[in-house]
Amino acid sequence: MATISFWGGVGTVTGSKYLVQTSRARVLVDCGMFQGLKELRERNWQDPPFNPRELNAILITHAHIDHSGFLPRLVNHGFHGPIFCSRGTADLLKILLPDAGRLQEEDADYRNRHKLTKHSPALPLYTEKDALATLELVEPVSNMGEQFQAAPGVLASFRIAGHILGSSLVLLELERAGKDGNNRRVLFSGDLGHYDQPIIRDPVAPPRADYLLVESTYGDRLHDPEEPKVALARIINDARKREAPVLIPAFAVGRTQEIVYLIRELEDEGTIPVLPVSVDSPMAALATVAYANRKEEQDEEYASVLAKQQHPLRTHSMITASSRQESKKLNDAKGARIIISASGMMTGGRVLHHALRMVSDPEATIVFVGYQAAGTLGRRILDGEPRVKILGQWLPVTCRVTKIGGFSAHADWKEVLRWLEGMEGAPVRTFLTHGELQASTAMAEHIKERFGWNVSVPQYGETVDLE
Ligand SMILES: [Zn+2]
Repeated sequence: MATISFWGGVGTVTGSKYLVQTSRARVLVDCGMFQGLKELRERNWQDPPFNPRELNAILITHAHIDHSGFLPRLVNHGFHGPIFCSRGTADLLKILLPDAGRLQEEDADYRNRHKLTKHSPALPLYTEKDALATLELVEPVSNMGEQFQAAPGVLASFRIAGHILGSSLVLLELERAGKDGNNRRVLFSGDLGHYDQPIIRDPVAPPRADYLLVESTYGDRLHDPEEPKVALARIINDARKREAPVLIPAFAVGRTQEIVYLIRELEDEGTIPVLPVSVDSPMAALATVAYANRKEEQDEEYASVLAKQQHPLRTHSMITASSRQESKKLNDAKGARIIISASGMMTGGRVLHHALRMVSDPEATIVFVGYQAAGTLGRRILDGEPRVKILGQWLPVTCRVTKIGGFSAHADWKEVLRWLEGMEGAPVRTFLTHGELQASTAMAEHIKERFGWNVSVPQYGETVDLE
């Protein structure tokens, strides 16, 4: 017998956690933190719906916090088995998890100082120390596509999913789990990449599976048809004419590397002049090294740039500010220049110091290249609020504000169908995960219409037999 239980990443894009149980083993695929709405975030504080001590192993599709950020909490609650993931994911977990631990500690500290808590004292969800203990359990899998024993009676393999560095499809093969005594294969898409995105390879075709979990973030939407590169060139050329600065708030892992790659490409093609580009985020600098090191995940274009002895992730005039002093020096520079800094939604980090200088400068441009959640400073500026509070100061927003909609690390619904077309045979059942209810339902309809498969949208806490 075998079952799967959906403990996150259903009806929402956050908190991904799928528990697979057989008579011999329990494994968890993804261990994400819930983010966004309060009722979702509160789930992070509830006792886990399974005993972490009884899990044989955890497998992680990729390093984004909504897929990995709950690991330190489970380790703190007694999980001590192996955490399997690709090598790229292991590299990024080393950067992201300790940072998540520090943020949790800072958050608890803030709530205590401002008496925003019913609990005294407020405790962090987990600490940096928990995150470091988690990293000790990580076992990177070096051969993509090759099966290994993840737990008794559970074979697993990873394949490139093309979403961010290290992102993988996870295939589990459950030995003799079917009623007929045959093996059962369960495939998890994780987050599926957007085809032809820079730097990393496209998702590989899905292997044959009896059960399929497929993401549906963009189940009801298609990407903006304007190439982000074209929009970026227009904005940079415009800033050049006005001798004015451009600030790009960007997530340190993935988006920052993508922007730098595109700017370098535009410079190579002569579409934009070479301007000073500063990447002001210590985390981004570390992530760039990880992206450059993992050759097995780079696409052909990346390899061909590298063959010309150029660094694909460095523009022709680039400074990476790693110390606070260097970061301050950037602030005093003049003329047309591009600053890329985290956090992407301007909720903290060095981007705030740059925003403080630029938000009231009518010549400066702030360019949003990612989703801005409700309530964040990024969203307020994008929504056109006339005044915003940055680092304790109220400032009028008089700079230019623009958005490039075409950046996405996710496949849209047509791309999901394109990916599924590569699958050999129909799965017995397909589950739509990782989407708002509306998006998952729409994606289910698209799949039913195109392939006639048995599809469903599972609910939080639902358990399904895999027999
Ligand atoms: Zn992701």
